[in-house]
Amino acid sequence: MMALALAVPAAAHADTPSAGITLLDNVRGETIGPDGTVQSFSAITFNDAGVITAVYHQGERLPRQGRKGYQYHIDGKGRVALPGMIDAHAHVIDTGIALLTLDLSQTSSLDDALAAIAAYARAHPDRAWITGGGWNQERWHLGRFPTAAELDRAVPDRPVWLDRVDGHAGWANSAALRRAGVTAATPTPDGGAIERLPDGSPAGVLVDHATTLVTKVVPVPNPRDIDLALATAQIDFAKAGITAVADMGTTVDQWLAFRRAGDANRLYVRIMAYALGTEAMAAIGGSGPSPWLYADRLHMGGVKLFLDGALGSRGAWLKAPYADQPASRGTPLLTETQLGNLMSRAAMDHYQVAVHAIGDAANATLLTTIADLGHTYGGERRWRIEHAQILDPADWPLVSAIAAKSGLVASMQPVHQTSDRLMAEARLGPDRLRGAYAWASLQRQGAVLAFGSDTPVERPDPWAGLAVALTRQDETGAPAGGWQPQERVDRTTAFAAYTTGAAWAGFAETRFGRIAPGLRADFILVDTDPMTASPDAIRHTKVFQTWVGGGKTYDAEAPDGAKPARP
Ligand SMILES: [Zn+2]
Repeated sequence: MMALALAVPAAAHADTPSAGITLLDNVRGETIGPDGTVQSFSAITFNDAGVITAVYHQGERLPRQGRKGYQYHIDGKGRVALPGMIDAHAHVIDTGIALLTLDLSQTSSLDDALAAIAAYARAHPDRAWITGGGWNQERWHLGRFPTAAELDRAVPDRPVWLDRVDGHAGWANSAALRRAGVTAATPTPDGGAIERLPDGSPAGVLVDHATTLVTKVVPVPNPRDIDLALATAQIDFAKAGITAVADMGTTVDQWLAFRRAGDANRLYVRIMAYALGTEAMAAIGGSGPSPWLYADRLHMGGVKLFLDGALGSRGAWLKAPYADQPASRGTPLLTETQLGNLMSRAAMDHYQVAVHAIGDAANATLLTTIADLGHTYGGERRWRIEHAQILDPADWPLVSAIAAKSGLVASMQPVHQTSDRLMAEARLGPDRLRGAYAWASLQRQGAVLAFGSDTPVERPDPWAGLAVALTRQDETGAPAGGWQPQERVDRTTAFAAYTTGAAWAGFAETRFGRIAPGLRADFILVDTDPMTASPDAIRHTKVFQTWVGGGKTYDAEAPDGAKPARP
């Protein structure tokens, strides 16, 4: 693992007089230290600017209340204190929109979903379009995609457009297909698929690039909707103990919402934004990454690109055919030349590059392209692979060479492994599972693990993620002994992947990610110590309080706890 240590101001167990020092004491604190090991602490102080001024260990003398000591006091009540959790792969506005629109993620069958859709349409007679998402035909045990005709039974009178849980496919009813002008004569777009009936007419589900045929006619959320979605998502994050996220695919409109929130002092979670494509990147950043704005609460440091789709919709680009569909290997969304050109355009202006790569062909192509670009763009680039779901072990040497030369981030989502397990076995067959969701192997090759949720694909729940990272078992304990258990990681690795690793992945390690003097006072108080508790206890961790930059953003015990206090 690449060294995470960086120079921060030396620990000042200071008696230096200062206005507005807060002491948090009486905690059982755990943080990753500068050397990558776990360190304990029992108290911290932080200043008015929300910066940690000192960290105290068991048995050390604490400052006194008064002009030369501290002025404000928080009694930690013996609880566990941790650095705020960082979600290294999130979709912030989509998380809010998912909470505000029709959510099918908990439906267990097609009929169940159709009933929920019909009820939602009845409850919202004013909506011109019914939109939402979260459906998953695998979860419904349907064995095929749902159809427009089935959706027409729930909503015959208005257009309906529902995103698949992975965001790589959408389900339209007949009214939506008509509105979009998708017919039997519509050609299949490159990098996409239109599910068709035997007569060639569209069946209802559109995959990857074909989704834009419909999304371009769906009314876009207005700025007020986006602001509401941001506020809603931030509350969701704060409740889970999350203090920073990487926003993977920020549009210009979403960036403007982040700026509005920052201007109004309403950013309660730090956002490391990765622009959706190079056009948005240049529109937001101009000649290079944005500064860190609002006391490190907002930064656009790079670009998000997509090289392939998802495994569930067979959009992931594989070296060999799908085990359950031998005619297909999935499709790249970019040619190797296009990928290289886009990455080059970003790298020449010192933007960080994050590329979605799921299939082993996509990952191999990305690694080769990074290795080529490394000849031109030197220095520590910290290339990010988003998901890195299936790698061919033959490509491990490329991983280690890039990691050693320029830094490589494996931005992975532990809970995807348990959600995808049976589907991945069907799609890949037994032989390709050794490089699937291969956290431990990627780390062994020198990649830095940064864990996240991909919310709203999965709940932004780092506690479930930590439990899965340690066990490769789902919430029911299946499968016994863990799936491909050789790829489990140890507690320190998992904890680091949600804190220091995720901060390093965003070039933020001098700002937040651990408890140390000079870093932002982002911390949480919880009931469970992830370094000693059972995985099941970790999964059910209760978050009591969340603090960002020395301001409380969530308090489970306050009457209005779900509402962030003003930082
Ligand atoms: Zn994503």
